[in-house]
Amino acid sequence: PYVVAQPCVDVKDKACVDECPVDCIYEGSRSLYINPNECVDCGACEPVCPTEAIFYEDDLPEEWAWYKDAAANFFAEV
Ligand code: SF4
Repeated sequence: PYVVAQPCVDVKDKACVDECPVDCIYEGSRSLYINPNECVDCGACEPVCPTEAIFYEDDLPEEWAWYKDAAANFFAEV
């Protein structure tokens, strides 16, 4: 799946939400989260993010790799 990383925190522009064909981008308190179980890897959200916060999971910068776990945890709690 694709993953929302640090640049989204306290920004939450939501341009990605309108692009996602399966509506799998959800709003948390400080960031948006992509549901890894629903994302179909289409890539539509990545280029529209004004803060370039979205990465394919394998392309996450190392310091932001943990955002993949953050998303998993977010959806495990709901
Ligand atoms: Fe939605 Fe596609 Fe982005 Fe996955 S890659 S979150 S399906 S727009």
